[in-house]
Amino acid sequence: MARYIFVTGGVVSSLGKGLSSASLAYLLKSQGFKVRVRKMDPYLNVDPGTMSPFQHGEVYVTDDGAETDLDLGHYERFTNISAKQSDNITTGKIYSDIIKKERQGKYLGKTVQVIPHVTDRIKEFIKEDIINEDFVICEIGGTVGDIESLPFVEAIRQFSNEIGKSKSLFIHLTLVPFLKSSDEIKTKPTQHSVKELRSLGIQPDIVICRSQKSIPLDQRKKISLFCNVPIENVIETVDVRTIYEAPISFYNEKLDKQVLKYFKLKPKKKVNLLPWKKITKTVLNTRNSINIAIIGKYVNLKDAYKSLDEALIHGGINNNVKVNLVRIESDNLRSNEVNQKIKKVSGILIPGGFGKRGTEGKISAIKYARLNKIPFLGICFGMQMAMIEFARNVLKIKNAGSSELDRKCFPVIGLIHEWNKNGKVIRGTNKELGGTMRLGSYEAKLQHNSLIKNIYKSNFINERHRHRYEVNNNLKDQFEKKGMIFSGMSPDNKLPEIVELKKHPWFVGVQFHPEFKSRPLSPHPLFSSFIKAAKKFNGK
Ligand code: GLN
Repeated sequence: MARYIFVTGGVVSSLGKGLSSASLAYLLKSQGFKVRVRKMDPYLNVDPGTMSPFQHGEVYVTDDGAETDLDLGHYERFTNISAKQSDNITTGKIYSDIIKKERQGKYLGKTVQVIPHVTDRIKEFIKEDIINEDFVICEIGGTVGDIESLPFVEAIRQFSNEIGKSKSLFIHLTLVPFLKSSDEIKTKPTQHSVKELRSLGIQPDIVICRSQKSIPLDQRKKISLFCNVPIENVIETVDVRTIYEAPISFYNEKLDKQVLKYFKLKPKKKVNLLPWKKITKTVLNTRNSINIAIIGKYVNLKDAYKSLDEALIHGGINNNVKVNLVRIESDNLRSNEVNQKIKKVSGILIPGGFGKRGTEGKISAIKYARLNKIPFLGICFGMQMAMIEFARNVLKIKNAGSSELDRKCFPVIGLIHEWNKNGKVIRGTNKELGGTMRLGSYEAKLQHNSLIKNIYKSNFINERHRHRYEVNNNLKDQFEKKGMIFSGMSPDNKLPEIVELKKHPWFVGVQFHPEFKSRPLSPHPLFSSFIKAAKKFNGK
């Protein structure tokens, strides 16, 4: 039977619960155990799909088409285990399941309550779709003491009580601040946070202390004493120089060792930290750098393009070059100042996006990249904008646009039934917005003698999608005659998946999101190739 590890957080949010869970998962997996990592989010949205990245950072998409919390991206990148729909749940989803059941009369006249009905549904989620995993690591979003997270904390308490302490372990991650004025490390917030957790019936077995500086023995003793945790289970996590150092740092702090000791298990094989050591070294020692412009609407929020930022860095690691991300707000980008604002960049990337705001700025930047032969990668909305730019300026279709943005335009991008009268309405716009896009992994076939085939070195690829609108396939010949080829198509030839410019050193648009599948230990070929081209453009 699986062992369950619950990870809660205290004092403040954003302490790195996701990264800690992901690192622990890597360490256990590397020692021969089968691991799953899942996330419980206490907000009322059914999934983050309809939330603005300003609210919650990036929406991560799984192979099986779930729109999930970005922490699942961390888990995947560190463990290389594909997350599934069943790995993320929100309060909204739990309530919507319960209310549906209630309307169907399935509660047989009972009063439906938080305890037991909501907590029972949470417990079901924890166990769902677990077959032969040795460990299930469940991270609880938010911080202990929030009203929203109470049912989750109660559910994990009950769960542990039911399966027994030998099969469940609680990890609590807190902040141990350093006060400059008194030159002291303070343990009181941790004491309070653990007190709060204990008042909810949970005694943590391991406390992970996030700190700027190493925590001296005396303070560790204090935490051990007040939090009722053995001293060897007070684990510190001092800010790492790069996130790729996190698994090494947790190993040095013996987090995995204490977890295995708790469960009375022995490693099945020796941990392998070499790949992390290697990339940490590369990241810290690389001197050459290039600038890549990311032009989007949410550039001011660090987590809005999390997987993309990561994928670009992975591409840099593969090319021994440091990638500086130059974030440019598309809304403020006027066509006459493009060259000024994106000076000194060796590559331009337009990420996925929604809605009209900022689109003209993106189109101007794409034109600049096309004419000046600057390596360009357009992802999803970025590819759609690249096609609109080409249609307007090369094909001379003046009112070319996307029906997402302008109902009266000539739809270069739109819904398939707009140009294929017999085409079924696959995705309408007047129904619900949540969960109705083309989501998850789909196959594409690649054209011979194309740049893309050369990059992937394969005839067929599988990539993750998240879009409602599509390229107007009727325009294929027109585009191709002028040099923009449709080098990747869905296997039935109906949906263009990849476009590239023939007379350009590196100009690629993809309808999918390759960033979700890039891993630090196996960088994505598309990003590696893009960075390689940027490096060449820069003359390095
Ligand atoms: N808004 C566009 C669509 O729905 C692109 C989506 C995206 O970039 N993920 O098709």
